[in-house]
Amino acid sequence: MRFVKLAVAAACLWTGGASAQQGQLNVICSVQAEWCNMIQTVFTRSTGIKVNMSLKGSGEALAQLIAEKANPKTDLWFGGTGDPHLQAAELDISLAYKSASLPQLHAWAQQQAQQSGFKTVGIYSGPLGFGYNTELIPKTWADLLKPDYKGEIQVANPASSGTAYTMVATLVQLMGEDKAFDYLKALHKNIGQYTRSGTGPIKAVARGETTVSISFVHDGPGEAMQGFPVATVTPAEGTGAEIGSMSIVKGARNLEQAKAFYEWALTPQAQQFGAASKQFQLPSNKATPVDPRVPDFKKIRFINYDYAKYGAAAERKRLIAKWEKDVNSLPR
Ligand code: PLP
Repeated sequence: MRFVKLAVAAACLWTGGASAQQGQLNVICSVQAEWCNMIQTVFTRSTGIKVNMSLKGSGEALAQLIAEKANPKTDLWFGGTGDPHLQAAELDISLAYKSASLPQLHAWAQQQAQQSGFKTVGIYSGPLGFGYNTELIPKTWADLLKPDYKGEIQVANPASSGTAYTMVATLVQLMGEDKAFDYLKALHKNIGQYTRSGTGPIKAVARGETTVSISFVHDGPGEAMQGFPVATVTPAEGTGAEIGSMSIVKGARNLEQAKAFYEWALTPQAQQFGAASKQFQLPSNKATPVDPRVPDFKKIRFINYDYAKYGAAAERKRLIAKWEKDVNSLPR
C-alpha cells in the first residue's frame, strides 16, 4: 500500500512538460480493472484531463474500434495483446505517432512500433503458460490432453480474448497449422468452459472452480497474493509471449489529450502501476523497476513469435474463423 501511495505521489509530479490541461479523454482499457482504475485516477489528478474508461478484452476492443471507424468515439486504446493492435494499424484505425521515449523502450516494444508504421507501441510483455491448483502439475502442452483433465481446463475464446488468440497463434507456430488444429480439437474434449475474458480462467483456477487454465503467467502472482492456491508454469515444448500494446485512434476527437496520456503511459512512473495493481508483466520502459514477481524471461523456452504475421488482419480473422468452425463447433 505504501508503495502504491509513493508511486501515485511520484506520478502526480509528472506533467509531460505541459501545465494542467483541460478536456477529456475516452480510453478503451484492455488490462484488468484495478490497473485501469489506477491510471484513470492518477492521470486525471496529475493533468486535470478527465478520463472516461471502458474495459474490454483485446478482441472485443478491436471489434468496437472497427464498428466506430467512420465516427470514432474512442481516443486511445490502452493495453491488451499486440496482435489486434497490429490489426488495427493495418485497418487504418490507429494513428501513426512517434514518441520521443521510443529509444528508452526494450527492443521488442520498439519493434512492435516499427512493424505497425508507428501506429502502436509495446507497453509490456508477458509469457503464455498454465495456471494450476492441482497435484497433477501440467508441464507440457501434451499433458493437457490427458484424460485426468477432462472438463478441468479453461481457456478463453480467441474471438473475444487476446490471450486465447495468442494460444492459437503459438500452437500454430510451435506445431505447424495442421497439427496445431488436431491438438486444439483434442484439447477441446478436456475444456470445461471457454470464457469471454482471457483472465477469467486463472481466476476460476484460483477459486477451485477448475484445475487448470491456459493463461498469461503474469496473472498468477496477483491471485496467489489474495491467498488463493494457484501456481503457474510455462510449457516445456516452448511458448509464446504477448506484446501488450497501446494505440491512438485515427480521428480521435481529443487528440492532444490522447498524446499526453500516451507519453505518460510510456514513463517508468506510469508503468509501475501494472505491478502496483498486481499485474506482473514486464514493463516496456527499460528504466521501470521490475518487480521480483515478474516472470523471469531467461528461464522460459520461447518460440520466435512472428508478430507481424499473426497480427495481420487476414491471418487473425482466418485463424479465429477456423477455430470456430473446426474446433468450437465440435461436441465435447
Ligand atoms: N489482463 C491482463 C493483465 C493482460 O496482460 C491482458 C493481455 O494483454 C489482458 C487482460 C487481455 O485480456 P484478453 O485475453 O481478455 O484480451
